[in-house]
Amino acid sequence: MTGPAGIADGPGADDHPAIGIDIGGTNLRAAVVDAAGAVLDTVSVGTPHDPASLDTALVDVIGTLAARRPVSAVGLAVAGFISRDQQVVRFAPHLPWRDSAVPARLAPRVGLPVYLEHDANSAAWGEMWFGPAGSGENVAVVAIGTVIGAALLIGGTMYRGSNGVAPELGHLPVVPGGRPCACGKSGCLERYCSGTALAATADAMLAAAPERASSLPRGAGALTGAAVAEAAAAGDGVAREAMSDFAQWLGVGLSIVADVFDPDLIVVAGGVAASAPLFLDDARRVYAGMVTGAGHRRLARIRRSELGVAAAMIGAAESARRSAAADAPDRHGGAQEGGAARDGGAQ
Ligand SMILES: [Zn+2]
Repeated sequence: MTGPAGIADGPGADDHPAIGIDIGGTNLRAAVVDAAGAVLDTVSVGTPHDPASLDTALVDVIGTLAARRPVSAVGLAVAGFISRDQQVVRFAPHLPWRDSAVPARLAPRVGLPVYLEHDANSAAWGEMWFGPAGSGENVAVVAIGTVIGAALLIGGTMYRGSNGVAPELGHLPVVPGGRPCACGKSGCLERYCSGTALAATADAMLAAAPERASSLPRGAGALTGAAVAEAAAAGDGVAREAMSDFAQWLGVGLSIVADVFDPDLIVVAGGVAASAPLFLDDARRVYAGMVTGAGHRRLARIRRSELGVAAAMIGAAESARRSAAADAPDRHGGAQEGGAARDGGAQ
């Protein structure tokens, strides 16, 4: 194992950048990413909600980017259950794919190898190769946006579980009889610790105290997590309280991660990572007080992502680039995922 394929092997098609696409329920966000993790080009379009249109939109996005510069492969980051062999999207709550062999269907249409990965795992690959996760041995990446995605990297290898769905950190029930969750349960962690939760918490605080002054808009659905974060940064009292509540729950969630998994590093990623100065120290305090045996063990470091919301695109692209190099029949020395040799090329 000599490092990323392509670099070690000399010039060739494998050295071309790859396309990473973060397939969310709202947008398809695509980027062309080079072997050093640099984003060279991006395209974003709305996500169609029928299977044929979704395929066509992906083919169009890939065609648009591939027409601008040579690319070697396509990596798709999907929020959903991926088969363990990473060939099939079993189920994705916000997408129309069900037991859908996406790579086999799209590859001939785009003329490029297409690879599939869970979005949290993609973000974890990005954080490992180009962000802080590369400095850990056993690493949990907790990506918090509208929901919670999590991934476990054990010695540079992705832990996928028996069904390929581990870990569903966001759906650990932490409040019996709590807020209802789209998964069918109630009181799930992500109902209290996500961008969506931040808005819901602020909403509830405003509704409970209509006389309180706040710059936040009132009324169900008027708020977003980003708006609350912005108001908290500007000093709004209600927003800061909601942020403090979020931090408490993040601390609880991270202590559960530490109790179950005992990592040496936890990376907080996703859209909310940009607001880390507003909550991360509070979350660290709660975490340090809740981990079992705190004071008698070395606590995992908690760091924030440096890649932000681009992590999944970057990780999907680099993962695809490496896989395509390893899969190419005429080439050797491709870095396998377990190799995880960072190439030192973080931006
Ligand atoms: Zn849930």
